[in-house]
Amino acid sequence: MLRTDLSRGKTVIFGRFFLQMTHCTKTIALLMLIMAAAMRISQSAEDPGKKEWTVWSDGCPVYATTQLDTETTPLAALSKGDVIEGIKYFRNADYIEWIAFRHEGQIAYAPFAWLTHVPDSNKAEGDLPIGGEIVDRWNSLPDTYEPGDLVSLPASYCYTQNEFRLRREAWEALKVMLDDARADGCKIWVASAYRSYSWQSGKFLQKVEKEGLGQRVSAKPGHSEHQLGVTVDLVGPDPKLALEQEFGETKEGQWIETHCGRYGFRLTYTEDNETETGYIAEPWHLRYLGKPMEE
Ligand SMILES: [Zn+2]
Repeated sequence: MLRTDLSRGKTVIFGRFFLQMTHCTKTIALLMLIMAAAMRISQSAEDPGKKEWTVWSDGCPVYATTQLDTETTPLAALSKGDVIEGIKYFRNADYIEWIAFRHEGQIAYAPFAWLTHVPDSNKAEGDLPIGGEIVDRWNSLPDTYEPGDLVSLPASYCYTQNEFRLRREAWEALKVMLDDARADGCKIWVASAYRSYSWQSGKFLQKVEKEGLGQRVSAKPGHSEHQLGVTVDLVGPDPKLALEQEFGETKEGQWIETHCGRYGFRLTYTEDNETETGYIAEPWHLRYLGKPMEE
């Protein structure tokens, strides 16, 4: 009896072990499949830095290293309009971004802050079709782009005395949205709308001078959605929360997040896409995409 019990016990233990082993083997096989797929994806995905980049402002420094200290001197300086053939994009721990390229027979590095790339679709004549414009950290608008159908916003919708302009279709959609918000008890004003390339250029240089190349707030000129003329920054009644993260938690911020899609707007920068966009979340920054989306 004892022998049988023992052997039965062993069988049970072995059976469990076998089952566990199979499970374990299955897991390993699955992990290997996932790793193989990931490797294939990383091999096929093109490095975002691997294309032509144009220097947008004079004095773009070129370094032999990206680990800068007070002793590091540039190898050279590039001028506005110079073009480099990017090999690789990367970012230091302090958020400074670089493009590696070949410079006089060696690998050199130019700060991403000085470089820009205009995709062919943004070079089309006239106003770009709403919703199809590609403007992000990798793709720029031409420095000459200004929509031809900008209209001035009535002062009662504006937060300051400044003149704010938007493309007609975006303004018409925004007006309906702000009126509906007001009917729901949410007072919301426009604090920024269309911004020209040269305005953004000054703002960006100011920000970099103050906070360094690793700043993550101001977009390079040409890379701001505000130049599209379909993008607004909105504020509520509390001036302390204007363009602050906490605005997202206010009644107005919540209303915008919940309802903006119905009017064709979208929050471009959210906590979920910070890594992808390279900017911190902006619960006040909305872009009009033309087609109302499902709530
Ligand atoms: Zn904005």
